[in-house]
Amino acid sequence: MFSIKFKTTEELPEPSPRLIDQVIGQDEAVKIILSAVKNKRNVILLGDPGVGKSMIVKAVGEILQDFGDFTPYYVIAKPNLKNMERPIVEVIDGEYKEDLKEIPKLDLKSPNPLTLILIMVGAIILSQYFLRSIPEKYLLASVTITALIVLVFGFIIILTSIMGASRASMSNSLSPMDLKPVLLYECKKRPLVRASAYNVTRLLGDIKHCPLGGRPPLGTPPHKRIILGAIHEAHRGILYVDEIKTMPLEVQDYILTALQDKCLPISGRNPNSSGATVETNPIPCDFILIMSGNMDDVYNLRAPLLDRIDYKIVLKNKMDNTLENRDKILQFIVQEIKNNNLNPMTYDGCCEVVKIAQYLAGSKDKLTLRLRLLANIIKMANDIAMGKEIEELLGNFDEKGNYNPETKKDDNKKVYITAEHIRKVFESGIYSMEKQVALNYIKNFKRYKHIVPNDTPKVGVVYGLAVIGVGGIGDVTKIIVQILDSKNPGTHLLNISGDIAKHSITLASALSKKLVSEGKLPLPKKDIDLNNKEIYIQFSQSYSKIDGDSATAAVCLAIISALLNIPLKQDFAITGSLDLNGNVLAIGGVNEKIEAAKKYGFKRVIIPEANKIDVIESEGIEIIPVKTLDEIIPLVFDLESIKNTETSKISK
Ligand code: ADP
Repeated sequence: MFSIKFKTTEELPEPSPRLIDQVIGQDEAVKIILSAVKNKRNVILLGDPGVGKSMIVKAVGEILQDFGDFTPYYVIAKPNLKNMERPIVEVIDGEYKEDLKEIPKLDLKSPNPLTLILIMVGAIILSQYFLRSIPEKYLLASVTITALIVLVFGFIIILTSIMGASRASMSNSLSPMDLKPVLLYECKKRPLVRASAYNVTRLLGDIKHCPLGGRPPLGTPPHKRIILGAIHEAHRGILYVDEIKTMPLEVQDYILTALQDKCLPISGRNPNSSGATVETNPIPCDFILIMSGNMDDVYNLRAPLLDRIDYKIVLKNKMDNTLENRDKILQFIVQEIKNNNLNPMTYDGCCEVVKIAQYLAGSKDKLTLRLRLLANIIKMANDIAMGKEIEELLGNFDEKGNYNPETKKDDNKKVYITAEHIRKVFESGIYSMEKQVALNYIKNFKRYKHIVPNDTPKVGVVYGLAVIGVGGIGDVTKIIVQILDSKNPGTHLLNISGDIAKHSITLASALSKKLVSEGKLPLPKKDIDLNNKEIYIQFSQSYSKIDGDSATAAVCLAIISALLNIPLKQDFAITGSLDLNGNVLAIGGVNEKIEAAKKYGFKRVIIPEANKIDVIESEGIEIIPVKTLDEIIPLVFDLESIKNTETSKISK
């Protein structure tokens, strides 16, 4: 199985501390991404969930400092005294040193009341001087003029003091300390910043609201309310955006602008917030963009953004089942045990993990690279192994419920993850929702299903095989064909709605009619007027949505049996697609289907020759690989019963 002999994983070498060395089966992708980062190219990683997209980026992040020189920098925000709603953000090279001296002053241009009083007194003195030359009869006028001067200046003084007070209250929030530039971010080494595609604020930054009495306090100047975006924090480094499926189109446009201009201003994102009126200057953000998602997610991306991504890397979801790759799975097991602080695993346990890697890859010939799933299975198997300990611990309680440590068994007994624990997790399906749903469906439904394996031969009845749910489990489907004499010839399909299934049945119907009418089958000939036949095909008790073409061969056999009135044996289940020439073509989920045939108690299962290489477990059932429909006919038609009827006819 492996190139090393061992009893438990404790004997195996420690995993490498470098994450990049821990990535398994994605050598090509790792090479490309390293070269992309070195050459400052943008990358998108696509692939099934859990094949290591995030892990690879994290691993690159670990060795990012090796990619040439980096100039540390810091980002500060300053108030813009000319326009407070347009704060200034600066990216400055070097290390940040707090500088308290540089405090800008507000230019409050209100006239000083003291100056006004002095001017007023001067004006009164001057007016008195001029009024002295006026005759006494005009004294009243002089007093009135003086009083007027006092009144006008008094009014101006009161007004300016009120204005001054109100300005002072406004500048309450703009105290010298508040006008100080603030440090938004300090970057000492090449950054790798991760953000989810849907988190707009995190990605692009924002301006906090300035609510009454809330946080930040009333009057907090805009430059102190700036939240830097991940795109800015990734300046001179990498921005990693995952879950691209969830990226709003508007955000894609902003990222595109950032990639093109290498700078982007921050403005308030919430139109109902006071932050919405604030916008900074364009802030430098020169980063390498790495995005990741599932294959289909890429269609959510706008073409201009996708065009800007230089490398589009598709990660593999399986690898060949070779000695070298089995050793890699072993390395993976050791890593998972170490990284998650699990109990060691026995040799048999490791062999079982390889077997499950084959099942998840759908072939004996392959090993899955959906390693998160495998990691989860290992972790749950560890829990089951530990659970045994808990059971033992529970065993220390006596019947009255009192804890009695005396009864405690071997306290220092080492716990190992064994093949049994791994198998338990895999068979229970607790690692996959779909599998559990399918298991429950079959468990609840199996007893109601009218499936009689190994029954006496029947005309027009055959057992097909299907897989329920994504990565689900296999099930047996009874297919019944009835032929009616009718003036409306045609083929009718019951209980199947999938398009591929419908097409495959059309093919099966056409092929079987052709073979019967040509009379080239190794079966007794019969004159049939196909123009008067109506064919009904029922996928009996098939209520879940099953689509696909793997029942083509089964349906073809059932139609031939019904047309020629020759019984089919009932000791087998069959899976296989067909082409119009009668070649049997490969299908998916062969192992799940064989498993189902076995569970229902069939003696034989017929599979396409092309799938022979995929079969993992062949014990307990005869597996018959076939290449053509001709090969199947002698295996499944009850020719003995025909011979007997023919002989009895002759003897009569
Ligand atoms: P993705 O981003 O493709 O969904 P992750 O990188 O998050 O997958 O993988 C989750 C976990 O699965 C990792 O932390 C690691 O334990 C395991 N894993 C996945 N792929 C690999 C791999 N190629 N090599 C080693 N471990 C892997």
